[in-house]
Amino acid sequence: MTKRVVLIGHPVAHSLSGAMQQAAFDSAGIDARYELWDRAPIALADAIAEVRGDEFLGANVTIPHKERVVPMIDKLTEEAQATGAVNTLTREGRRLVGHNTDVPGFVAALDKLVGRQKMPRQAVVLGAGGGARAVVHGLIRASFQRVIVFNRHLHRAEGLVRYFARSAAHMDLKAMPWHESIIESELAKTKVLINATSIGLNSDVSPVPAEVLSGDLLVLDLIYNRTRLLRDAEAAGANALDGEIMLLHQGAAAFALWTGQPAPLEVMSQALSEARAEGVRSAEGEPAGERADAVPETATPAG
Ligand code: NDP
Repeated sequence: MTKRVVLIGHPVAHSLSGAMQQAAFDSAGIDARYELWDRAPIALADAIAEVRGDEFLGANVTIPHKERVVPMIDKLTEEAQATGAVNTLTREGRRLVGHNTDVPGFVAALDKLVGRQKMPRQAVVLGAGGGARAVVHGLIRASFQRVIVFNRHLHRAEGLVRYFARSAAHMDLKAMPWHESIIESELAKTKVLINATSIGLNSDVSPVPAEVLSGDLLVLDLIYNRTRLLRDAEAAGANALDGEIMLLHQGAAAFALWTGQPAPLEVMSQALSEARAEGVRSAEGEPAGERADAVPETATPAG
């Protein structure tokens, strides 16, 4: 029987995960099909009930369901519990286990960004959604000592900081209001800047003005493209990395969980590059209900 793995999100139409995971199943000789299920929030519970069936190896869960799905799951791994967000499901009989493979995905990207340098201890994080939760958890685990979270809606950043209060008790984890001057002054004390907002996903704008970026910074944008932020960072002489490594490694970790086999990283990476070359946009990061090619950004980012 052909096994099934589904991506549950809204929207999911042009997911990069489809190309990446199907290539991995095919190359590993696993008889499985990766399907895209576009499910609005109201249909999420039914979708979750369905993937308890025997023919399913598991599922991915993406925007806007990563946090909403948590109470529908029978068991959470430490990472899913710690972040309050689930992006991968596996089955134990009819029970579902929730994982967060965005965390190992982020850690792989951070390692690549830092390279052979000593792991820094201070970071500025822009954004407070599901992606930012994986980032903050990864930074805590990497022994960062000071992490400042800026978000357009401050209350969401404050909620994130409260959520991590216990695991971050030994360090300085703070939410700050999104003011250019405050971001600038924090960046002057920081080595790592991570964009976990979707600013730059749909149009060529950066969350911060180019002038606040110095050549000493290590800049990671979770978005999979060469965004304005990354181009500005490179122009300033900083090290800059996009979100492809995170996407690849979260996918590889999910593959290993579903199949019990190591992921064929090369094959997955190649499939991702091909899908991107064909102009496929990932649905994973697209704001729910909006088309990637039609979204005017409403904040007041630089540029
Ligand atoms: P969420 O919808 O959970 O969060 C979106 C974040 O972006 C919020 O902090 C939101 O702020 C902020 N934001 C959105 N639009 C604006 C705007 N116009 N001005 C200011 N802030 C804005 O999404 P995720 O956290 O899941 O994803 C965020 C980004 O990370 C996406 O671009 C996605 O592509 C990327 N991502 C990449 C992954 C990878 O594997 N590479 C994995 C996960 C995410 P507010 O709360 O104020 O609305």
